[in-house]
Amino acid sequence: MRKPLLQSNFWIIGITFLLFNYCSAQFSSTHTKLNQLYENYQEATITNRLVRYQNIEPLIEKRRNQEAFKVLRAGSSIENRPIYLVQIGQGKTKVLLWSQMHGDEPTATMALMDIFNFFEQNDELQPLRKKLLSQLSIYFIPMLNPDGAERVQRQNAIGVDINRDALQLQTPEAQILKNVREEIKPEWGFNLHDQSRYYSVGSSSKPATISFLAPAYNEKKEINPIRRDAMKLIVGMNQVLQKYIPGQVAKYSDAFEPRAFGDNMQKWGTRTILIESGGHYDDSDGQYVRKMNFLAIMCALEEIADGSYVRHRLPEYQAIPFNTRSLYDLIITNVKIQQQDKIYNLDLAFNQNAVAGEENFHYKGQLAYIGDLSTSFGYKTFDAADYKIVIGKTHPQIFESILDATQTPIEKFLAEGYTTLQLMKMPPPEYILEDRVQFIMNDQKIRNDFQLGSNPSFFLERNGKKEYVVVNGQLLKID
Ligand SMILES: [Zn+2]
Repeated sequence: MRKPLLQSNFWIIGITFLLFNYCSAQFSSTHTKLNQLYENYQEATITNRLVRYQNIEPLIEKRRNQEAFKVLRAGSSIENRPIYLVQIGQGKTKVLLWSQMHGDEPTATMALMDIFNFFEQNDELQPLRKKLLSQLSIYFIPMLNPDGAERVQRQNAIGVDINRDALQLQTPEAQILKNVREEIKPEWGFNLHDQSRYYSVGSSSKPATISFLAPAYNEKKEINPIRRDAMKLIVGMNQVLQKYIPGQVAKYSDAFEPRAFGDNMQKWGTRTILIESGGHYDDSDGQYVRKMNFLAIMCALEEIADGSYVRHRLPEYQAIPFNTRSLYDLIITNVKIQQQDKIYNLDLAFNQNAVAGEENFHYKGQLAYIGDLSTSFGYKTFDAADYKIVIGKTHPQIFESILDATQTPIEKFLAEGYTTLQLMKMPPPEYILEDRVQFIMNDQKIRNDFQLGSNPSFFLERNGKKEYVVVNGQLLKID
């Protein structure tokens, strides 16, 4: 009896081993591997949301000599910056992706640079590369509005929103996009944008980190086979993203905009997908959202290449909640604020406004709402019911520089009730790393009051101890 038992054990172990390998191969799907290997593809020269022409120009020019890439100058912006058309793949299905037609919406441009890097490498995802390059011809316009990107603004150099110029075609940028579409006649189009970080998903508290839309091609929002395919592909992308940002995918407003490119592309017969990059927790540089773009686009390309998107069902698209604007960066509830001899119990919402510098943004806090915030949500929230508000003071000494001021530990200033330090010399704000106090020039006046649009600094004090400080719209614990 012993021998057969051993034999059957051997078989059980063998079959289990085979089954396990089969299953794990099935489960470690494309997105899992892309996620694991992403750091190898992430373009290291771009690290934040300030993406201008000079950031992408060397990354595109260096591909001119590479066999896999075809780099063309599709045309020029009003200020004569090149607008590139980059092509890879020799397949019969044509896909066109265009990013940053709004100059201040760079997230997808970063992801496109990562995708270029992906196609240059040779690793265990070689079968995916081969599949995409043999089935698809992929065309990229990585920055349709370089003049707007230079100014970090939505519109182009003459103030026109390119995405409202799809019919009149007055701007060279819109003409380029239209001409490229007419010439290539892509079956698929990816319209890549950034949206407000204050959008949340439906009625939930979660940010809409990515919003999708298969734009309507008429007022009645009808669904023809073209738009239906775009909706199905979105279902596939949503399924992937739910594994990384559960509950953080929404649908962008589907109101028909007759002047916009997405809506017209759909009308002209290109299955068009809008991807809007929004906010994510602790991701002010947008690097996690960039990765989500990379994953969503790569997985979509695979589903287009092998046709597997057809299995998705429209009710799953319909079920994706719409964007709702109900988020703030910081909400502090039950703040006891003294206004003209009276104490009011109010909620406060702060937002961080991004201000572009040379190489990065810096952020300016701003009181965005005062009053009942019970229907809103914050990336961070804090209940100040048990706390007393103590307004921060400006230190009387005028320091030479930040280095001079920080000879004294910041904790000491905070313990004495100071939140603002005056300087003779100020570096560009994007380089100031100390955020527990506010630095101002010695001749600058600050308003430390609770008015809409102001940026008050104050302490939250409990049992005589200053536990938190709010400076520049950020709540920081005092150690
Ligand atoms: Zn946009």
